[in-house]
Amino acid sequence: MKKVLILEDEVNIRSFVVINLNRAGYHAIEAGTGEEALERLRENPDIGVAILDIMLPDIDGFEVCRRIRANNKQIGIIMLTARTQEMDKVTGLMTGADDYVTKPFSPAELTARIDALYRRLGADNGADLEVLAQGPFVMNTRNHTLEKSGSRIRLTQVEYSILKLFMLNPGRSLSREEILSSVWGRDYEGELKIVDVNIRRLRIKIEDDTANPTYITTVWGFGYKWGA
Ligand code: CA
Repeated sequence: MKKVLILEDEVNIRSFVVINLNRAGYHAIEAGTGEEALERLRENPDIGVAILDIMLPDIDGFEVCRRIRANNKQIGIIMLTARTQEMDKVTGLMTGADDYVTKPFSPAELTARIDALYRRLGADNGADLEVLAQGPFVMNTRNHTLEKSGSRIRLTQVEYSILKLFMLNPGRSLSREEILSSVWGRDYEGELKIVDVNIRRLRIKIEDDTANPTYITTVWGFGYKWGA
C-alpha cells in the first residue's frame, strides 16, 4: 500500500487528514513533531509522499523538509501553509518541497496533490522516464546515453550518474557531499576530491569552453550547480 506521512501537531487536523488518506486508499503514518517525522521516515523508507506542517513544537517544517531532502531526492513533499503566510510557499519550495496546500483545505484537494506526486514518483522510478532533455543535452535514461546537439558523448558510469543527478535537479546547488553520497553511495568512505576530479572530466566532455564552464558552474565553498 502507498504510504503517506502526515506531520501535524494539531491532533484534530491530523486525524482529519488520516481518515481521508485512508479513505483514499493510502496508508497514513502519523507524526506530531519534526523529530518524530524523521524517525517514522527512517523506519519506513518506502514512504512516497510526506505532508509537513510548518509550525511545530520542536523543529519547524522547513527544517524537517531540508533534512529529508538531504538524503532523499525521490520522496514527494507537500507543505501545509497558513493562508496568511505567503512567504511560506516560497521558502517551502526553496527548501525542496514539491508542492504546498493552504489551510483550510478540502480532503479532495489534498488527495489530488498526493495522487499527482505519486504519479510523478512512479514515472521517475519506472520506464516512463526515458529521456531528459535540457538545452542542447538529451539523456536517455534507459540506454544510459547522452547526446549534445545530436552528437553522442561517451561518459563513464560515474560521469553519467553525476550528470543525471544534475539534470534531475536543474538550477539547484548540490553540495559535494550530496553528490558523493548520491553517486557513490551513502557508505562510501572516499574523499570529496573524487567529486571534483569527475566534474573536471565531465566538463571537458560537455562544456563549450572548459575554462569558462556554463553548464556545470562552481558554487564556491559548497559544490556545483547545473543549468542548461
Ligand atoms: Ca502546527
